Amino acid sequence: MSIHDEGFAPAETPEGIEVRGLVKSFGSTPVLTGVDLDVAPGTVSVMIGPSGSGKSTLLRCLNLLETPQAGRVRIGDDEIDFTAGVRRGQSASLRRHSAMVFQSHNLFPHRTALQNLMEGPVFAQGRPRREVEEEARGLLARVGLAEKADAYPDQLSGGQQQRVGIARALALRPRVLLFDEPTSALDPETVGEVLAVMRDLAAEGRTMIVVTHEVRFARDVADHVVFLDGGVIAEEGPPQQVLLDPQQERTRAFLGRIL
Ligand code: ADP
Ligand code: MG
Repeated sequence: MSIHDEGFAPAETPEGIEVRGLVKSFGSTPVLTGVDLDVAPGTVSVMIGPSGSGKSTLLRCLNLLETPQAGRVRIGDDEIDFTAGVRRGQSASLRRHSAMVFQSHNLFPHRTALQNLMEGPVFAQGRPRREVEEEARGLLARVGLAEKADAYPDQLSGGQQQRVGIARALALRPRVLLFDEPTSALDPETVGEVLAVMRDLAAEGRTMIVVTHEVRFARDVADHVVFLDGGVIAEEGPPQQVLLDPQQERTRAFLGRIL
């Protein structure tokens, strides 16, 4: 199973991500207290950090599932300055650039794999059904699931469901892919098939932020590793440095717990 067999290239040009001073609190609980992050176009950043450190919240802010109280986010040419306030239409515009893959696939249970892929492009993006179906079938083939187009989620294994989840994200033609612990809910024997799809997407030059504690994936695939702790990025750099020779004591302590 390799998406390269299809001569696959991103439908959209990958974009870079720039985050400055991002602040997000829930009620009186600060979660992100000033996050600065740069992801170059076509590169993979792996984000690690303790449970509750705000990794999901940061991804959700990039995808506008959460609204930060301050700071700014730029993806490609689209930027929102949350400190200044979000203007009408800005959220939809920025959200268009990214697609999320969640820990649990979140597929619609009463829709087939194919229908799950078509939902967003047809109903949210208003693209022509026939064109979307053709593209969706191609995407299912690329994640090795051409034969499962008419299967319902509960007829698929966890790994297959998650591959449908990735294909569904790709169907939105995003310029940036955000993965939130995509393999942490899977049986160990199906983790590899999902990571293989993600490796192919990385090799294709997609811009990706991947929250994962799969250290081998981070070492092999990441261009950049980010350690989120205490509401900020506490350490970042090339994988060899952050994973094998961390400079901060709290990075060392965290890695000591997960390795
Ligand atoms: P991580 O993904 O690193 O485990 P999260 O981003 O899920 O961390 O959560 C960071 C903190 O924000 C946690 O303390 C969590 O309880 C809190 N939090 C996340 N989402 C909400 C929410 N919708 N309402 C209130 N608190 C939240
Ligand atoms: Mg999380």
